[in-house]
Amino acid sequence: MSRGGMRYGAGRPSYKLKAEHLLRVEIGRWHRGGYLRAGQSFTWSWHRGDEPTGSIGVLVHGTDSLALQYMVGSDDQRRDGSQTIRLAHTACNYGKSRPWFVCPVCQRRAGVLYMRAGRFACRHCQRVSYASQSGDVLDRMWRKQSKLEARLGEYWRRPKGMRHYTYDRLIDQLEACEQRREDAFCEFTARFLAVTGAL
Ligand SMILES: [Zn+2]
Repeated sequence: MSRGGMRYGAGRPSYKLKAEHLLRVEIGRWHRGGYLRAGQSFTWSWHRGDEPTGSIGVLVHGTDSLALQYMVGSDDQRRDGSQTIRLAHTACNYGKSRPWFVCPVCQRRAGVLYMRAGRFACRHCQRVSYASQSGDVLDRMWRKQSKLEARLGEYWRRPKGMRHYTYDRLIDQLEACEQRREDAFCEFTARFLAVTGAL
């Protein structure tokens, strides 16, 4: 387990943290992986190289909520920090639907929740910034994703007047983007992972 608090950027302003440096959970990844069946429970872990740096239990209550189960605090003062997270669904093509986390703080829908100070919330509530100076794959993917997202409505909805073909292509690109980002994220954490120390 990682201890010792936030190591990255010690001495620098840390009000806005980089998305890449936080433990996070992505609903799309669990959805694509078939993890979101009612009654299903599974363990989700983060790694630095081969070394595990944290893990949580996930219990899927049903289509409308799941529980993130974990302990917070230092080794001598551990307490249960588990959170119940509501889920929302938006319709996408072919009768399918896309699941979202409902941020437990602001109640907005979010595809990704970040762990900070012992709790998960959306990037707005956690004051997470995507911006970064280096030109690595993650940055490119984030920039590409925000450009694609800018062409869509809220929560990846199809804007009025956009052709279905165009919309489908955008969604495909976004999903490919998320996958590449996830792959890059795994490589990135192998080199630079820094965590809140909460796990
Ligand atoms: Zn929020």
